[in-house]
Amino acid sequence: MPPAISETTRKALLRTLGADRLRRDVVLAPMTTFQIGGPADLFFEATSAVELRRAIEAARKLDIPYFLLGLGANILVGDRGFRGLVIRNRAQQVSVNQNTNHLHAESGAIIWRDVIETAVAAGLSGLEHYAGIPSTVGGALWQNLHFLSPPPARERTMYIEEVLLEAELLTEENEHKTVGVEYFNFGYDQSILHERDDVVLSATFQLEPADIDWMRNTISANLAWRSERHPPLDTEPSAGSIFQKIDGIGAGRLIDECGLLGTRIGRAEVTHRHANIIVNRGGATAADVRALIQHVQDTVARETGYHLETEIAMIGDFAPPTSSPPYQVPKPEGIITAKERAQRGKEQRDVTVDKK
Ligand SMILES: Cc1cc2nc3c(=O)[nH]c(=O)nc-3n(C[C@H](O)[C@H](O)[C@H](O)COP(=O)(O)OP(=O)(O)OC[C@H]3O[C@@H](n4cnc5c(N)ncnc54)[C@H](O)[C@@H]3O)c2cc1C
Repeated sequence: MPPAISETTRKALLRTLGADRLRRDVVLAPMTTFQIGGPADLFFEATSAVELRRAIEAARKLDIPYFLLGLGANILVGDRGFRGLVIRNRAQQVSVNQNTNHLHAESGAIIWRDVIETAVAAGLSGLEHYAGIPSTVGGALWQNLHFLSPPPARERTMYIEEVLLEAELLTEENEHKTVGVEYFNFGYDQSILHERDDVVLSATFQLEPADIDWMRNTISANLAWRSERHPPLDTEPSAGSIFQKIDGIGAGRLIDECGLLGTRIGRAEVTHRHANIIVNRGGATAADVRALIQHVQDTVARETGYHLETEIAMIGDFAPPTSSPPYQVPKPEGIITAKERAQRGKEQRDVTVDKK
């Protein structure tokens, strides 16, 4: 496939971003939580909001296709990589104003731990609910990061929009402006950033003073919740939930009911730990993941009538899906599935009721 960028354009970009900073043919897999993805033709790491803005403006001016990469926790990058410029956001400054209880973060700041630790150390609450979720600030606004409210009630889903005060953007029209929370049109896994090519340069959160021990307990409880249910990223790389939720039904439940836990194609597997998560069993390709996604969608549609939509963004060029047939691996020792957890919870509740 011919490169999308001519030598003249590349040299013009090089002059703007610096010869020592603009790299060629950089493999993206290690920069994603899935550990999957081919090379970017051109690659630049922005280490401040100013550099981020300059890189985006340069790519737009030179008409170079670009992709803004956060922590790579909600994407699948194609095996053939990205024809254009990948800008990795490493603008990570975070500061707190104790008078106003504002936390200001550049958009490449990492929510867990950097942003949350800064807030908690300052005695400020509102972000600790998202402990353990891999995300930059920019990715969190793109997706309206969410998690359950603290235990024991866990009665509702909390969203990052609830504490967002304002954000500094470089808009699709190259305007540099600050917008309030209403601009984002937030929903579940949704924001205006899905529709417009705006770039978040930084964000300000309005937090509340709170007891530090209470926040630390919430963080511990949330990390424990995750470690019981989610595959650990260091040994079982993934992109979190693959399919969008279906209200009142649950994508994971449908997948489980169709007997798909443990289904593998190539090195990609529907993990027994969580029916809505596909893990990379070491050396998985995007082609394996795409074939497995298709297999899950076809099986669920055939057996239940529901169509599962993917939640993750597909980035770059993809090879055809792997053609080898799916097969099933048994549940490894020690893993508790969601169904078993629900059953145990029910038995425990029944015992408690009996004792009363
Ligand atoms: C193990 C695991 C558990 C997870 N659990 C949860 C969970 O509980 N709740 C939840 O909500 N999510 C969860 N996720 C999903 C993921 O963590 C979030 O979607 C996260 O916000 C992604 O952020 P990122 O920085 O990795 O974005 P990336 O994946 O790098 O990018 C995602 C999209 O955001 C865009 N983007 C990134 N930065 C900016 C910016 N500055 N301006 C404009 N656009 C930008 C990118 O261009 C891309 O289109 C989980 C993921 C994993 C792997």
